[in-house]
Amino acid sequence: MTTEPARVRNQGTRTAFITGISGQDGSYLTEHLVSSDWTVHGMVRAGDDVHHESPAAVALHSGDLMDAPRMAQLIEEVEPDVVFNLGGMSSVAKSWQQPYEAAIVTGAASVALLEAAWRLQERSGRQVRFVQASSAEIFGNASVVPQTESTPIRPVTPYGAAKAFAHHAVETYRSRGLFASSAILYNHESLRRPASFVTRRITLGVAAIALGLKDRIRLGNLDAVRDFGWAPDYVDALDRIATAEQADDFIVATGESHSVKDFAARAFAAAGIPDGLSLVDTDPKFQRPAEALEMRGDPSKISATLGWTATTNFQSIVQMMVEHDINLVREHGLAALPQD
Ligand code: GDP
Repeated sequence: MTTEPARVRNQGTRTAFITGISGQDGSYLTEHLVSSDWTVHGMVRAGDDVHHESPAAVALHSGDLMDAPRMAQLIEEVEPDVVFNLGGMSSVAKSWQQPYEAAIVTGAASVALLEAAWRLQERSGRQVRFVQASSAEIFGNASVVPQTESTPIRPVTPYGAAKAFAHHAVETYRSRGLFASSAILYNHESLRRPASFVTRRITLGVAAIALGLKDRIRLGNLDAVRDFGWAPDYVDALDRIATAEQADDFIVATGESHSVKDFAARAFAAAGIPDGLSLVDTDPKFQRPAEALEMRGDPSKISATLGWTATTNFQSIVQMMVEHDINLVREHGLAALPQD
């Protein structure tokens, strides 16, 4: 990882500043923007591992979502056309263990970034845009399925409450005159999904069983129903939202939902293991104090307004992740699996 390289502004036509660049979405978004000629600046914490494919057009800067003055300084120096706020606590599960940190990094940090974008716009006299990675978690246990952009915001998790605060902060700055939009992202998976998320726990566990390295897997709530999409599709949505004619909020989802149990059953089937669900144990350790029963988003608005649709269906997501993880576990053995 290189940090603080020389200014790379002249290499692309538009400049992005990304928080959370080292995560799944940050890495895909970086590749996506660089391939369309953007210059990308990202903020990283010391020790973060970063995937990025075109280092010449990517500049990494040390910083932290807890450090508002540093974020303001970076935005002032980088002078981005668009700030993408993808940073925050990595998961809902972790937010139950560290709710205060979740409130700061997933919630309050957005205000520091919005204010810095606003000040840059005021100083420079040119438009500075802001795209917030909002989340389906803001809706909590919604009584309406599928959820739309007008579903009431009623989070039931610390992560959701922090995302809801950031979501409202975006509205506040939009009414002040900043081009600020929220992408309300539903679960989105990929070959880079960390092993702490349920889909990757399942595909790595199934791969280990298929290769004879494990007998069983342990999971939490098998009945949770989620709208599982493909992360590379979702960064394309972020780009469309950033370059839209108007700032607005958009649900980014497939419109289809499946239970965790269904994901597991299909993953076993993809690995050629019959009756795989009999190899799953439920462990209260992986259950949450509270969560939504079903999350399913209605993507009609982003489809009609920005021409976005999900390209990768549920079965293909399961299949790609299982095939990838069988190869990974074949190569690295049990070291590829999460320690829990
Ligand atoms: P999240 O929606 O961002 O929390 O993504 P996750 O992939 O962590 O969780 C998705 C759903 O899977 C939630 O409803 C979890 O309660 C459920 N789930 C069931 N078993 C597990 C498990 O072993 N690990 C995780 N992380 N989630 C699980």
